[in-house]
Amino acid sequence: MTDGTQSEGLPADVPARAGRDAVVVGGGLAGITAALALADAGVRVTLIEGRPRLGGLAFSFQRGELTVDNGQHVYLRCCTAYRWFLDRIEGTALAPLQDRLDVPVLDVDKPEGRRLGRLRRDALPVPLHLGRSLATYPHLSLAERARVGRAALALKGLDLADPSLDAQDFGSWLTAHGQSARAIEALWDLVGVATLNAVAGDASLGLAAMVFKTGLLSEPGAADIGWAHVPLGELHDRLARKALDSAGVRTEIRTRVTSISTDENGRWIVQVPGETLEADTVVLAVAQREAHDLLPQGALDAPEKLLDITTAPILNVHVVYDRKVLDKPFFAALGTPVQWVFDRTDASGLREGQYLALSQSAAQDEIDAPVAALRERYLPELERLLPGTRGAEVKDFFVTRERTATFAPTPGVGRLRPGARTRAPGLYLAGAWTATGWPATMESAVRSGVSAADAALAALGRPRPRHLFEVEEAA
Ligand SMILES: Cc1cc2nc3c(=O)[nH]c(=O)nc-3n(C[C@H](O)[C@H](O)[C@H](O)COP(=O)(O)OP(=O)(O)OC[C@H]3O[C@@H](n4cnc5c(N)ncnc54)[C@H](O)[C@@H]3O)c2cc1C
Repeated sequence: MTDGTQSEGLPADVPARAGRDAVVVGGGLAGITAALALADAGVRVTLIEGRPRLGGLAFSFQRGELTVDNGQHVYLRCCTAYRWFLDRIEGTALAPLQDRLDVPVLDVDKPEGRRLGRLRRDALPVPLHLGRSLATYPHLSLAERARVGRAALALKGLDLADPSLDAQDFGSWLTAHGQSARAIEALWDLVGVATLNAVAGDASLGLAAMVFKTGLLSEPGAADIGWAHVPLGELHDRLARKALDSAGVRTEIRTRVTSISTDENGRWIVQVPGETLEADTVVLAVAQREAHDLLPQGALDAPEKLLDITTAPILNVHVVYDRKVLDKPFFAALGTPVQWVFDRTDASGLREGQYLALSQSAAQDEIDAPVAALRERYLPELERLLPGTRGAEVKDFFVTRERTATFAPTPGVGRLRPGARTRAPGLYLAGAWTATGWPATMESAVRSGVSAADAALAALGRPRPRHLFEVEEAA
């Protein structure tokens, strides 16, 4: 328990509150956002989270002197809702954006040894802002670079509102547009696997087109990368709690909702162990399977569709060296199983040596591998990538496994994702997996929370807070 509004179980005599009460179930980014938005509109909000902390899938934990993130998280300048969220919790300065997109890409599978390329933008308008970088990208042949340019223009021409895009897979589209296996690996998947959590062949063209159009082909700065320079828990737990407390939200952690139903007057009854909460509005901001299990009968036309939204894993491999082995904040890798490597030293509080986190998306093949096998696999790969590691001592090696990190962005997933409104008056859905038009990201989570709050406020006849993020209709 950290302050007056935070408790670890509900007091036995919680009074039923008259008037406009909302319960938000789930304290991930979607739930926190919905709670803040409703509270800012004057609704009395109780936020219920089953775990001992807020932040859901984007959290930190302690391992000795290290504060470790469960998985490296980045966002892009085009993630306007997540940026609004950072502002709202007063965390923007702790998760800054690059001034300009600059991704070092290291290929270790070259006859001449390691080769460094860069994906950078310059000051020109879209799509020329990436032209120079693409023209000099050493990991593709001249012909491949020219064909990438043509495919990018074809992608730019796709209409995201066309529902047939969702049924097609991105890999086939890329091949049909002249992209070689090498171009897919060295460019499209380099970005796509990290943002979609699937290789192109397993990803919906609609979602992939959305990511590439929004990130690379909308505004020159859209793909500038931002990431937390502090542990994620500092943002999504500590600062989020502070904002919730200031907004008057009552936050209950270590409290699991076991059922949601209505009483004879149509008021919502939210059950937690030993206690009953009453509300006019409920926002269910949990993962799709939990939402399916908690939704009252009749709330969705086809609730079983939620169970068809499958999940995809992300593995993070954490290595602490006794010395500095990397002189960049991060890089992406080719010609090795290593995908993206981040320097977490300062953020983790490590005082000596260097702490690297390897973010391995679409990790279906490795998510259950024993730590010893992963150690045997990844340490030699890091030696290939970073010569400085060869004489360095590994002080610590561990992994974090998120088996259900994201929903799988499979072709056809779009028609399974429900919007915020349900058929049950006063009951709303939120979560990165709902129909935001975005893949499973922090951006999608925040957008979903805003949409749920918007729908609830409209039904309650309350004006939306002026400073609340505006969600445009999803394509
Ligand atoms: C390893 C990893 C790396 C990622 N990398 C990125 C990245 O780089 N960029 C990016 O944008 N996104 C990334 N993501 C995705 C991002 O973290 C998620 O999309 C986002 O955090 C989901 O938020 P949410 O609120 O929708 O759901 P969740 O975070 O799943 O929140 C749901 C909450 O509901 C709670 N809950 C469930 N059932 C109950 C119940 N019955 N009662 C009370 N509470 C309940 C859960 O405990 C949980 O806290 C990554 C995810 C992982 C795991």
